[in-house]
Amino acid sequence: MKSANSPPSRRDTGTGPGRIRTRLLDWYAENCRWLPWRSTQDPYHIWVSEIMLQQTRVDTVIGYYRRFLRRFPDVADLAAAGLQDVLKLWEGLGYYARARNLHQAAGIVNRQYHGRVPYSRADFIALPGVGSYIAAAVLSIAYEQPYAAVDGNVKRVLSRIYAAAVPVNGPGAAAFYQGLADDLLERERPGIFNQAVMELGALVCRPAGPDCGSCPVRDLCMAQRRGDVQSFPVRKKRRSVPTYRLAAAVIRKKGRILIVCRPENGLLGGLWEFPGGEMQSGESPEDAGLRLTRKTVGLNTGAVHYLTRVKHAYTHFKVEADVLICDYHSGRVRLNGPADFRWISPRSLGRYPLTGMTRKFLPKLVKMLSSA
Ligand code: SF4
Repeated sequence: MKSANSPPSRRDTGTGPGRIRTRLLDWYAENCRWLPWRSTQDPYHIWVSEIMLQQTRVDTVIGYYRRFLRRFPDVADLAAAGLQDVLKLWEGLGYYARARNLHQAAGIVNRQYHGRVPYSRADFIALPGVGSYIAAAVLSIAYEQPYAAVDGNVKRVLSRIYAAAVPVNGPGAAAFYQGLADDLLERERPGIFNQAVMELGALVCRPAGPDCGSCPVRDLCMAQRRGDVQSFPVRKKRRSVPTYRLAAAVIRKKGRILIVCRPENGLLGGLWEFPGGEMQSGESPEDAGLRLTRKTVGLNTGAVHYLTRVKHAYTHFKVEADVLICDYHSGRVRLNGPADFRWISPRSLGRYPLTGMTRKFLPKLVKMLSSA
């Protein structure tokens, strides 16, 4: 790796931003990781990778990216697919609105742009799930358009290089850090430059324990020069997230179990789970299971067996759910909340895209049902 003390390259002679650009580009040329989406210029493939990479680690994304593109190699394939197939391939990656939006956007691109990812920023950013980061990343990498891509990773790097006092999660952060990134952008090679900043954030200027000794802009970094790297990025304190107590009921009827589908336009929309909901204060899990099966699917159940408790964290809240096995007694399914239902054999559970919480207790459930 080229160190910050190496002799400057021929292009390394400009002002502060010019030197930062040159150092980052030289460093990236020598140090960037090989990743499958870096060997393509296909705008759709780059778009898929950037959507998957939001809030998700690179090593997790690689397998999903390959499977997704094997199944949906171009926009027309994705547009023609059913949402359930798309969600099944996305299962486990989280943030399922990304998959629903990408699927919907592919339909629009297929109909309105003949399957070609729009070149115009105004057209591209109007698609579902495309915000300013995705637009800048895809248009700069695929089409070399001069847009600076700013995500949390980039904000952290910039906050340190410029010792910026603006909290990265505060109200003015988006405009402030976008302004810094726009000024710094290398306009002749914006796609490579955006990736260089992101790669520095991933490999060197990491959230905890930045490796300043290996950093190509060490002598230009204001936080480092002040000896105060640990103070950046500045963050506003977050309110603590609430925890909700839930009960979920696996209802058995003649060897089949009932699963329900969440409404497409809500949280975890289109994913399948077991009927349930929030427990009331002082209520036992068993009582909650019986009450919630009546309330959400209109069925009377009994003979409750306690299976397990699972915990799951979402962005703005956490849940702790008690899972129960109930036997069907009477009634016909009447949905109050879920959008759809199926009575299925336990063996076919794997065919449905399930919520993360449901997948957490699946092994225990399958074991229990197969031994019953
Ligand atoms: S010197 Fe350290 S803090 Fe500054 S950009 Fe490099 S790794 Fe980040």
